[in-house]
Amino acid sequence: MQFVVLTIFPEMFGPFWDHGIIRRAVDARKIVPATVNIRDYASGRHHVTDDRPYGGGCGMVMKPEPLTAAIEAARAAAPGAKTALMSPQGHVLDRTMARELARLDGLIFVCGRYEGMDERVCHDHIDLELSIGDYVLSGGELAAMVVIDAVARLIPGVLGGEDSAEKDSFEDGLLEHAHFTRPENFNGMRVPEVLLSGHHGNIEAWRRENAMIRTFLKRPELLTERPLAAEEVAVLKKWGREIERIIEARSDGGQPLDRPGSSSGG
Ligand code: SAM
Repeated sequence: MQFVVLTIFPEMFGPFWDHGIIRRAVDARKIVPATVNIRDYASGRHHVTDDRPYGGGCGMVMKPEPLTAAIEAARAAAPGAKTALMSPQGHVLDRTMARELARLDGLIFVCGRYEGMDERVCHDHIDLELSIGDYVLSGGELAAMVVIDAVARLIPGVLGGEDSAEKDSFEDGLLEHAHFTRPENFNGMRVPEVLLSGHHGNIEAWRRENAMIRTFLKRPELLTERPLAAEEVAVLKKWGREIERIIEARSDGGQPLDRPGSSSGG
């Protein structure tokens, strides 16, 4: 898959392409990266890429001519790619969107700076607007890196068998189970006994239940958004019974505390 990044700060991407899973994917030709300096497409001696906003106000706006020329050149070099404008106003990246993007031939990322870009660039040159969350960054570069990393992991062959994306959080609608490594005892906290047992069936069962517990505690809404297998319902009912047992075992029989001013007493 081709990843082309259009930016006025291409130096930010050198270390990014050069480390970890991304580096491995580049070496294996699973992804083909390119970083393009938008300034190279700006005319004039100073290669200016921004200007003051019409209507006044603070901040600068990215000029349409260099951006358009850079996008057109990138599209010519990567004809099967879709062009994504990085924007806090775009579609917020999630697992479903990352999976869809991973099926494309390529992606061209247009990274904004300042107040963003001249609106007219969006009309003919942008296929989709992508956000990484409801907050505003100073530029689209970090956002593009987030998208590239999330998408690259989902391209077949990028992750080895051992750290396959299918086991990651959200893949089956749950968060992933907890992980432990040596030592067995760290500051008095022991690794769960079952993980040392070598019994694959029991380890698998513990991991499934642990994934359910973590999802219930951290992101309970995920459990209402997906169908539950019979064994998962059994796990939830088991905890429900355990919570009731704890409440009933209390000396006050689990009676709610009557606080002054509380209306719960009816
Ligand atoms: N004035 C714009 C607004 O309020 O919508 C924000 C501009 S922001 C300071 C500069 C650039 O950072 C944007 O053009 C975009 O490329 C990038 N950016 C900022 N937040 C982002 C986010 N949450 N997701 C993706 N890109 C973002």
